[in-house]
Amino acid sequence: MDNTQSLEVKYPQVKDLMNETPIFWKNPDYGQPAELPFSKADIFDAVARWDRFAPFIEAAFPETARMHGVIESPLIELTKMKSAWNQAQATALAGSLYLKADSELPISGSIKSRGGIYEVLKFAEHVAMTKGDLKETDNYAILRSPEYKQLFAQYGVMVASTGNLALSVGIAASTFGFKTTVYMSRDAKAWKKAKLRANGVNVVELDTDFSSVIPQARQAAAEDPSIHFIDDEGSADLFIGYAVAAVRLQHQFKQQGIKVDRDHPVIVYLPAGVGGSPSGVTFGLKTIIGPYIHAIFCEPTHVPSVTLGMMTKLNNAISVFDIGLDGKTAADGLAVGRPSRIAGKMMRTLLFGSVTFEDPTIYKYEAQLMDTENITVEPSAAAGFTAIERAITEVPAFNTANATHIVWATGGSMMPESERLVDHDKGEALL
Ligand SMILES: *Cc1c(COP(=O)(O)O)cnc(C)c1O
Repeated sequence: MDNTQSLEVKYPQVKDLMNETPIFWKNPDYGQPAELPFSKADIFDAVARWDRFAPFIEAAFPETARMHGVIESPLIELTKMKSAWNQAQATALAGSLYLKADSELPISGSIKSRGGIYEVLKFAEHVAMTKGDLKETDNYAILRSPEYKQLFAQYGVMVASTGNLALSVGIAASTFGFKTTVYMSRDAKAWKKAKLRANGVNVVELDTDFSSVIPQARQAAAEDPSIHFIDDEGSADLFIGYAVAAVRLQHQFKQQGIKVDRDHPVIVYLPAGVGGSPSGVTFGLKTIIGPYIHAIFCEPTHVPSVTLGMMTKLNNAISVFDIGLDGKTAADGLAVGRPSRIAGKMMRTLLFGSVTFEDPTIYKYEAQLMDTENITVEPSAAAGFTAIERAITEVPAFNTANATHIVWATGGSMMPESERLVDHDKGEALL
């Protein structure tokens, strides 16, 4: 990065980012027309692929039997948390408050079960159709046969991850029989590494921080043409896998009587790390549900990578280290200093804005959610709550009784009890 000084002049909020001051950034290009490289057809192509794989998923992962092999999370109204909120917070929340509980998604207990598993399914289908004789009309449960397992064993899947992407990709790929390798940084959670190893995944731990893990994994994968590398910094398949959430959410809105129109805005709060999952979901929401659903990204003040990239329009050409930040946060899913190659470009006209928060506040909301609703999420996944107060005070139209606020809880149901208790104590002290 050349000249951060001229950036501050052109975009005054860059100064706040440098000072680690929590901000609300309103995207000046929101709602403008744009040519996008993905379409509604891409989303429905992915929906159809998930449907084809449902019999396989149902057989391979018994926890999905109740949903017949569909990997989806509940949309939960937080009435008790809203009451607690309105007693404690300076600005009362007029609308209703919901949690999109991706923390409860099967297999990884996180939003990564959407993108990560989808990319593995797509690769498995490609191998089975081009090297085997799978047809779209087959019952995909046959992919569990010894013949297919043998075929898949000739191929590898590789990914680099701070944790949850490794869990979703690692467990899904090893279930098919792919040789599966995940690269992780030394600070990745021990229980995640142990769970992966128990599933036969080769876990490579690098003694560096995460920024240099992805290039090393990409390099290792490039040396072997039988390996499929899942690239969290720019994969189109991951992106579309996340976007499918919108089709499912639209269905839940109908079932649960949630209206979306000019007089009934819906505001969705999404934590952003590299920006892949929140931008994929947001692309889906804007494409499937339309103009009256608004997305706001939430990032730590120490790691506002997507906000910085979008604000300066430099996207992945700038990192938080370029403006002197340390990139450190307790929200391990969000500790990514440089945004993905597609997040900022896709979000230029689709993202309403973003909010940055100080780490302790996520523990506060994590504890409040446990105390009021008995729902466990991991620290990153509570980030959405940090944006509500800013959103309703800065945008009065969002604070009406007809508005619906949805905090996207991106992970956490698989957290060990011991960690849950430590987090709860940290948060309790702040309530
Ligand atoms: C990965 C992750 C995020 C952020 O997703 P990105 O695609 O990195 O932006 C947020 N929360 C949790 C729990 C995650 O695992």
